[in-house]
Amino acid sequence: MSNGRIDEQLSALRERWQDYRAGGSFEQFVEFTLSLNSLAERLARLRLPGLVRQCEGLENAALAMFGDPDTHPIASQTVLALDRQLESLLGAVVSARRFDGSPDKRTDDVADRPAAEWIKPRTIWMFAAPNVGWSAGLAAQLSFYGFQVRGMPWFHELPTEDPPFAVIFVPGDDAGDADAQATADIRRVRAACPASQLYFVGVPRTLDRMVELMRAGIDVTIQRDDQMAALLSSVLDLVQTHDTERYRILVVEDSRVALTQIQRALKQHGIDSHTIPDPSRLFEVIEEYRPDLVLMDMYMPGCNGVEATRALRQMSAYQAVPIVYLSSETDVGLQVEALRLGGDQFLTKPFNPVLLAATVKTTIERHREMRRASRHDGLTGLLNHTASKAELDARLAALPPDGRLAVAMIDVDHFKSVNDSFGHPVGDQVIRSLAWLLKGWLRGTDVIGRYGGEEFIIAMSGVGANEARGVLDGIRAHFANLPHAHATGSLRVTFSAGVAAFPGCRKASELIEAADQALLQAKSLGRNRIVEARAPAAAD
Ligand code: GH3
Ligand code: MG
Ligand code: MG
Ligand code: MG
Repeated sequence: MSNGRIDEQLSALRERWQDYRAGGSFEQFVEFTLSLNSLAERLARLRLPGLVRQCEGLENAALAMFGDPDTHPIASQTVLALDRQLESLLGAVVSARRFDGSPDKRTDDVADRPAAEWIKPRTIWMFAAPNVGWSAGLAAQLSFYGFQVRGMPWFHELPTEDPPFAVIFVPGDDAGDADAQATADIRRVRAACPASQLYFVGVPRTLDRMVELMRAGIDVTIQRDDQMAALLSSVLDLVQTHDTERYRILVVEDSRVALTQIQRALKQHGIDSHTIPDPSRLFEVIEEYRPDLVLMDMYMPGCNGVEATRALRQMSAYQAVPIVYLSSETDVGLQVEALRLGGDQFLTKPFNPVLLAATVKTTIERHREMRRASRHDGLTGLLNHTASKAELDARLAALPPDGRLAVAMIDVDHFKSVNDSFGHPVGDQVIRSLAWLLKGWLRGTDVIGRYGGEEFIIAMSGVGANEARGVLDGIRAHFANLPHAHATGSLRVTFSAGVAAFPGCRKASELIEAADQALLQAKSLGRNRIVEARAPAAAD
């Protein structure tokens, strides 16, 4: 995602606030709150939990002042307090953009740099109590997966470098009475690193302590028993940004006034919409526009919203698409009936724009979460076979004629013998480690899929075959050095890969086929290597 959009959002937010300070009307205050809400939303999509928290804090403070329109303009002292909060938020967002964990890093900008710089490791600070032996092992693991770990004792002076991607607190085994001090230290780090994800290893036994930690700024607490696996997969998930999909809403509404208000509310929240004045063309439009959700008026010419919903639910392709009614219907009995007949939510007119956007977004998110589960592989959390192919198709379709895209097929070497000698669970852990390694070292924007048992597919935009080969060769070397634990010691495993690139190949099937051929060649040349596909015959 470009810096452009977040910059625009920041200056819009600043402007809304200036407007309110100058004009003092309730309307302007609502506008300001709306742009806070959309910033929070965007930060959440960029996976910046610390900033989300800060932004939502300010939004809540603003919402608390909605009260009734006559209370505006609000007291000058309150204005000053909000002003301070806003400045600190804007400062935090701007400073968060400086480090490499920044999701605003551009795919295209980095494409031409040498590979070593391109896969710059993310930094993690780790505060560990002195008597915890395994923390060094954890640091070593994290660095294997592409993170640069800086270990420090608790209460250590904070490094002067840019805030890290994540901070991990490893408490002592007998923390007990040191709790209060520890909490204070977490607060100190939280204040200095608003954009970082804060982990606490070891879940406290009491709810009180857990709440205390969360209030101090901890985002995630991790059980000790499976610290490594849980921590690694959580940290690695965080480097994947999910910022590609915008929300798409189909609005079915006959009133022009209502329509204008709805469109405005959606637009302010960065939601794309398409509108039709009545349901007569519903089937065609839904097919073309492929909305994430339908916002349905109740009373329209032709047929009403409930009838249209029932009709839509007869078609297997649209049985699941979320439908939210937006209607002036206030009869609870009829509302319940409307929900029973296939709607997901019911909002009444006149609507609150913040509530409308929040309802729409949470409904879509919940639906997407369900879809995600069916698109991802259980063992590794990567895209599964079907989803990774679909994603590759989508990337190719969106690629400009002069764009570049590389595809790699990866296959673990002699994997059968790993299973045969050490058992299936060890084999599974090898597969997971490779998945983590790929997530850790590739960019958040790259497509990484589990194509089959021990086969993976990668698609990288803005990159040629040669550069992709370079990057994968680095990962190959890391993997070959990674020890995998088994009952009596550890083993090393290698992988081979084949790489092919657009524009040499134009279709997904051609790219995969070419990469597969190159992979076979890598195997026959002795494995543990990356081979680039030969360019197709120059004639075509
Ligand atoms: P090569 O170097 O030629 O790739 O040798 P290989 O032994 O890896 O060959 P092959 O691809 O034929 O073997 C793959 C093996 O992977 C076979 C299958 O039992 C095992 N496998 C597939 N999926 C899984 C899985 O999810 N977990 C485990 N533990 N093993 C799996
Ligand atoms: Mg109507
Ligand atoms: Mg295989
Ligand atoms: Mg294999």
